[in-house]
Amino acid sequence: MDSSDENCTKDIVFYSLKDRILEKIEDCEVCKAKMVFGHLPDYRSLIIQENARCLECGYTRKKFLFFIN
Ligand SMILES: [Zn+2]
Repeated sequence: MDSSDENCTKDIVFYSLKDRILEKIEDCEVCKAKMVFGHLPDYRSLIIQENARCLECGYTRKKFLFFIN
């Protein structure tokens, strides 16, 4: 983890395997511009890392999506 990246928050979210992850558009918490999302799925450990980045101010947010059964 990059501990020097202070302009970044990390959330941890738990999903049931029955749930679907809905693609969504969120506004930047800093400048209210649209954020771009990317997903890095790790199917073996059932974790999806969701990276959201604001193209305007560079604000990033990482969310770890854990599947629980
Ligand atoms: Zn922004």
